Amino acid sequence: MARAAEYTGLTPAAFEAKYVYRTKHLRRLRKPPDRQCPFLEQGGCSIHPAKPTQCRLFPFWPELVADRGLWNDAGRRCPGIGQGELIQIGTAIEIASEMERAYPTFYGLD
Ligand code: SF4
Repeated sequence: MARAAEYTGLTPAAFEAKYVYRTKHLRRLRKPPDRQCPFLEQGGCSIHPAKPTQCRLFPFWPELVADRGLWNDAGRRCPGIGQGELIQIGTAIEIASEMERAYPTFYGLD
Protein backbone atom coordinates (compact mmCIF):
# COMPACT_ATOMS: atom_id res chain seq x y z
CA MET A 1 0.00 0.00 0.00
CA ALA A 2 2.91 2.34 0.75
CA ARG A 3 4.23 1.97 -2.81
CA ALA A 4 0.85 2.79 -4.30
CA ALA A 5 0.50 5.76 -1.98
CA GLU A 6 3.90 7.10 -2.98
CA TYR A 7 3.16 6.49 -6.67
CA THR A 8 -0.05 8.52 -6.43
CA GLY A 9 1.67 11.31 -4.51
CA LEU A 10 -0.35 10.70 -1.36
CA THR A 11 0.71 9.89 2.17
CA PRO A 12 -0.18 6.34 3.23
CA ALA A 13 -2.87 7.73 5.51
CA ALA A 14 -4.38 9.89 2.78
CA PHE A 15 -4.23 7.00 0.29
CA GLU A 16 -5.99 4.70 2.72
CA ALA A 17 -8.67 7.27 3.54
CA LYS A 18 -9.37 7.83 -0.15
CA TYR A 19 -9.04 4.37 -1.66
CA VAL A 20 -9.08 1.65 1.00
CA TYR A 21 -11.48 -0.06 3.33
CA ARG A 22 -10.68 -2.76 5.83
CA THR A 23 -12.20 -6.18 6.30
CA LYS A 24 -11.38 -8.57 9.14
CA HIS A 25 -8.20 -9.81 7.48
CA LEU A 26 -7.57 -7.51 4.53
CA ARG A 27 -7.39 -4.00 3.28
CA ARG A 28 -9.31 -3.70 0.02
CA LEU A 29 -9.52 -1.02 -2.62
CA ARG A 30 -12.87 0.71 -2.74
CA LYS A 31 -14.85 -0.16 -5.84
CA PRO A 32 -16.25 2.83 -7.74
CA PRO A 33 -19.76 2.37 -9.13
CA ASP A 34 -18.58 2.39 -12.75
CA ARG A 35 -15.64 -0.06 -12.65
CA GLN A 36 -13.99 -2.80 -10.64
CA CYS A 37 -11.14 -0.71 -9.23
CA PRO A 38 -10.43 3.02 -8.82
CA PHE A 39 -7.18 2.58 -10.75
CA LEU A 40 -8.61 0.68 -13.70
CA GLU A 41 -8.41 2.95 -16.73
CA GLN A 42 -9.08 2.37 -20.41
CA GLY A 43 -5.44 1.43 -20.99
CA GLY A 44 -5.19 -0.85 -17.95
CA CYS A 45 -3.89 -0.33 -14.45
CA SER A 46 -2.96 3.32 -13.86
CA ILE A 47 -0.67 2.39 -10.96
CA HIS A 48 0.89 -0.63 -12.67
CA PRO A 49 4.47 -0.07 -11.39
CA ALA A 50 3.19 0.17 -7.81
CA LYS A 51 0.12 -2.03 -7.86
CA PRO A 52 -0.69 -4.10 -4.76
CA THR A 53 0.98 -7.47 -4.24
CA GLN A 54 -2.21 -9.44 -4.88
CA CYS A 55 -2.56 -7.70 -8.24
CA ARG A 56 1.09 -8.25 -9.14
CA LEU A 57 0.86 -11.97 -8.35
CA PHE A 58 -2.56 -12.64 -9.89
CA PRO A 59 -3.57 -15.24 -11.02
CA PHE A 60 -0.96 -17.21 -9.09
CA TRP A 61 -2.87 -17.11 -5.81
CA PRO A 62 -2.66 -20.22 -3.62
CA GLU A 63 -6.39 -20.93 -3.84
CA LEU A 64 -6.34 -20.72 -7.65
CA VAL A 65 -3.12 -22.65 -8.16
CA ALA A 66 -4.42 -25.45 -5.91
CA ASP A 67 -7.85 -25.82 -7.53
CA ARG A 68 -8.28 -26.35 -11.27
CA GLY A 69 -11.99 -25.50 -11.04
CA LEU A 70 -11.32 -22.13 -9.41
CA TRP A 71 -8.51 -21.52 -11.90
CA ASN A 72 -10.85 -22.20 -14.80
CA ASP A 73 -13.55 -19.95 -13.26
CA ALA A 74 -10.99 -17.14 -12.96
CA GLY A 75 -9.97 -17.77 -16.56
CA ARG A 76 -13.55 -17.20 -17.72
CA ARG A 77 -13.54 -13.76 -16.05
CA CYS A 78 -9.96 -12.70 -16.84
CA PRO A 79 -8.96 -12.66 -20.51
CA GLY A 80 -5.26 -12.67 -19.58
CA ILE A 81 -5.33 -16.13 -18.02
CA GLY A 82 -4.08 -18.74 -20.46
CA GLN A 83 -2.17 -16.18 -22.52
CA GLY A 84 1.56 -15.63 -22.62
CA GLU A 85 4.37 -18.02 -21.80
CA LEU A 86 3.68 -21.38 -20.21
CA ILE A 87 4.49 -21.36 -16.48
CA GLN A 88 5.63 -24.59 -14.85
CA ILE A 89 3.56 -25.69 -11.84
CA GLY A 90 6.61 -25.42 -9.54
CA THR A 91 7.01 -21.79 -10.53
CA ALA A 92 3.29 -21.17 -10.01
CA ILE A 93 3.48 -22.70 -6.52
CA GLU A 94 6.55 -20.62 -5.71
CA ILE A 95 4.78 -17.43 -6.79
CA ALA A 96 1.71 -18.46 -4.81
CA SER A 97 3.83 -18.86 -1.69
CA GLU A 98 4.73 -15.17 -1.98
CA MET A 99 1.02 -14.45 -1.53
CA GLU A 100 1.00 -16.53 1.66
CA ARG A 101 4.03 -14.64 2.98
CA ALA A 102 2.47 -11.29 2.07
CA TYR A 103 -0.95 -12.11 3.60
CA PRO A 104 -0.34 -14.73 6.33
CA THR A 105 -3.46 -13.79 8.30
CA PHE A 106 -5.67 -14.27 5.25
CA TYR A 107 -4.19 -17.71 4.70
CA GLY A 108 -4.34 -18.66 8.39
CA LEU A 109 -0.57 -18.79 8.71
CA ASP A 110 0.02 -16.52 11.69
S1 SF4 B 1 -4.10 -4.33 -11.19
FE1 SF4 B 1 -5.01 -4.05 -9.15
S2 SF4 B 1 -4.77 -1.86 -8.72
FE2 SF4 B 1 -4.46 -2.12 -10.90
S3 SF4 B 1 -6.47 -1.75 -11.82
FE3 SF4 B 1 -6.31 -3.98 -11.49
S4 SF4 B 1 -7.22 -4.32 -9.47
FE4 SF4 B 1 -6.78 -2.11 -9.64
